[in-house]
Amino acid sequence: MSTRNPLEEYLKKRDFSKTPEPQPGTRKPSESPIFVIQKHDASSLHYDFRLEVDGVLKSWAVPKGPSTDPSEKRLAIITEDHPMEYADFEGVIPQDEYGGGTVLVWDAGVYHNLKEDKEEKVSMQDSIEKGQVEVWLRGEKLTGGYVFIHTGKKDSNQWLLIKMKDDEADARRNPTSTEPKSVLSGRTLEEIEAQEAEKEDENKS
Ligand code: MN
Repeated sequence: MSTRNPLEEYLKKRDFSKTPEPQPGTRKPSESPIFVIQKHDASSLHYDFRLEVDGVLKSWAVPKGPSTDPSEKRLAIITEDHPMEYADFEGVIPQDEYGGGTVLVWDAGVYHNLKEDKEEKVSMQDSIEKGQVEVWLRGEKLTGGYVFIHTGKKDSNQWLLIKMKDDEADARRNPTSTEPKSVLSGRTLEEIEAQEAEKEDENKS
């Protein structure tokens, strides 16, 4: 892990004269750390699961999205840290740019580090380094405990995302298919695309 600017990779991958994605700003850390899950219709559809840790958003790309069923293990690929400003981002990244495609805020809320309650009091940063993260989410669609477990060799970017067995677990729910809309704007991916295209046309005329 780099001790340099944690957002260096984020910045390097993007041309801000072309992408509408936010540049790192001055947004302060939250009183309760936030989480956000963005549905991203890139070359392959996935859900970007982000947890606020020490002033940045730690990020995993989850191809199938989170499940509310504890028997489902969802692959989660750890990706570059994102700036706090990204938490509110919805829009269309141009096709030729990194991550080209439409982004929607699928769920958002606050979380609690469950390992903070244990005797060892493991911080989020240490949990990530040790390859086991346990959080309690309070979102609009997802609530309850979730665990991220690192798999494979030490330098592997693969993790698994699993719902913990608690009162919020529900094997019958399938929120990624039954609740597709943005919790920020109420829009679907298609509506965001259409509205962004309209704006483009207005700017041209
Ligand atoms: Mn993505």
